Amino acid sequence: MATATARVFNFAAGPAVLPLPVLEEAQRDLVSMPGVGMSILEMSHRGKFFEGVLQQTEADIRTLAGVPDDYKVLFLPGGASLQFSMVPLNFLPRDGSADYIVTGAWSQKAVKEAKKVGGVKIAYTGEAANFNQVPAQGDLKLDPAAAFVSFTSNETIHGVEFKYVPQTGNVPLVCDTSSDMFSRPLDVSKHTLIYAGAQKNIGPAGVVVVIVKDEWLKKRVDDPKLPTMLNYAIHAENTSMYNTPPCFAIYIMGLVMKWLLSIGGLPGIHAINERKAARLYAEIDRTGYYKGHAQKDCRSLMNVTFRLPSEELEAKFAKEAKAAGLDGLKGHRSVGGMRASLYNAFPEAGVDALVQFMQEFESKNG
Ligand code: PMP
Repeated sequence: MATATARVFNFAAGPAVLPLPVLEEAQRDLVSMPGVGMSILEMSHRGKFFEGVLQQTEADIRTLAGVPDDYKVLFLPGGASLQFSMVPLNFLPRDGSADYIVTGAWSQKAVKEAKKVGGVKIAYTGEAANFNQVPAQGDLKLDPAAAFVSFTSNETIHGVEFKYVPQTGNVPLVCDTSSDMFSRPLDVSKHTLIYAGAQKNIGPAGVVVVIVKDEWLKKRVDDPKLPTMLNYAIHAENTSMYNTPPCFAIYIMGLVMKWLLSIGGLPGIHAINERKAARLYAEIDRTGYYKGHAQKDCRSLMNVTFRLPSEELEAKFAKEAKAAGLDGLKGHRSVGGMRASLYNAFPEAGVDALVQFMQEFESKNG
C-alpha cells in the first residue's frame, strides 16, 4: 500500500499533487461512506448524501472566495477546454466580436474556438517574445463594443501570471483561471465569468468550476440550436444536476475546499505559495546558470519555467531529478527546459529538495 513516505515530489502541471489528508480521507471512506454503507462511487447523484456533498462544496467555495450572492457556482464536465467553446456559444453574438488577451498557449486555444462562433479581436498578444510576459493595462487595445473580454490569469505552459485584474469598463470580463484558481485571494466581483478545470489546484480531473453572474446568464445569445448540455442557463436552473455530474471529482474537490479553509483560506495558501515560489526563483537567479523564462514582474507562482545552458543538460537534469524523486519537471516542448509546478498542495519540503538538487547539479555540471 502506498504510504506518505513512498510518495515522490510531484511537479506535474496537471493532473497534479493533491493534499495528503484529502487522499487519506478518500481512501479511508472509499469502500463504505460512514453512515451510508456504500462507496461514493456507487451512490445515486440524486440521493441525500451526494446532494449534501454538492451543496457543501458550493457553500465552501462561496466562503473561500467570497462569491457574491448574485453569482452562480456550477460544476460542469468537459474540461476547461469545453469552456473555450461554451463561453462564445452562450455570449458571443454571431455577428458580434469579443476581445481576447493572448498570453500563451491556453489563450491561443481559446481564440481558436471563439473564432468558430463569431468575431475575435486580439486585444494583446505576447507571441513575438514567446509569451514571456503579460501586458500592462495600458497595452490592452480594448473595444468598448466587445461582447466580452477573455484572459488567462495564469498560463500553465509559459509560466506567466497576471498580478492584476484587467479593467474593462462595462464590458464583461471572462477569466480562465484553470492553473491558479484559489491559489491567492480572488475578487470575483471584478469578473463576470470565471472557470477552472479542477485538476491543478482544486481537485482531480473531470470537473470544471464555473462562477458566473446571474445577470449575464439572462443576457445569453438566443440560439435555439445550442445543445442543451452547452447551455449555462440549463446547468444553473438544475443546480449542476441536469444530468449525472462528475460525482467523485466533486467529492474530492469538496475535501480540497475543506483543507484550504483549514489552513487559512486564500490568504493562508497565498502566503505559502509566495514563499515556495520565492525560494525557487531566488535559486534560479542566484548565479545565472539557470534562466527563468518569464519576465520578473509576471512570474507565475504556480508554474516556474526555466532553462539550463543547453538542451543536453536539460535532458540530464530531468533524468537525474526523476531518479532523485523529483518527478514531472520536464517543460512543455514549446518553451523547452524545465517547469516546476508548485500548486496549492505541493509541499514546501519539495521546493527545498529541488533547490538542493539544483545546487548540486550546477556544481557538478556548471
Ligand atoms: N486552460 C489552462 C490555463 C490550462 O492549463 C488547461 C490545461 N492544462 C486548460 C485550459 C485545458 O484544460 P482541460 O484539459 O481540463 O480541458
